[in-house]
Amino acid sequence: MPAHKLSDIKVVCKGGVYNKSVIDRFWKYAEKGLTDDECWFWIGSIMQRGGYGQLNDRHKILKSHILSYEIHIGKIPDGLNVLHKCSISRCWNPKHLYAGTHKQNTADAIKAGTLHVFEVKKGTDNHNAKLTIEQVKIIKGSKPYSIKGLDKKFGVTKTCISRIRKGLSWKSVTIP
Ligand SMILES: [Zn+2]
Repeated sequence: MPAHKLSDIKVVCKGGVYNKSVIDRFWKYAEKGLTDDECWFWIGSIMQRGGYGQLNDRHKILKSHILSYEIHIGKIPDGLNVLHKCSISRCWNPKHLYAGTHKQNTADAIKAGTLHVFEVKKGTDNHNAKLTIEQVKIIKGSKPYSIKGLDKKFGVTKTCISRIRKGLSWKSVTIP
């Protein structure tokens, strides 16, 4: 019988089976806080997108909070995500984790103020709705960096301003 390579050794956790090297590295970067209730921060590398703690397992990237959930709590129910009660993406404290839907996640993030919601005012998505020809002429003659000011001034979206500047809308209006 061939000798097992170190990478072949598996560890059975409550919610999944992992390579031993993954579990070993998890505990290297999973730093507990002073109390059971505070956030426990992942001190390994952090994903640029989402800010989650991450760990490489050969070609896969594992998220530390998901690993923590499977180590401490159990299998993630089908169709659910592992979410943070505390909204701190890099926190791996199992007490702060729960399984829920993406919709719940968004609602929690809004409640915690970590997700910015941009309200789109009705009517402004109609590019031509609110502008006068004079305003369109001003937009067409504007510099790229002034887009931000003009959208507020005329009560339309940045996309609207940008489309006009690129000549995609209000084609009939020309400037000298
Ligand atoms: Zn936390």
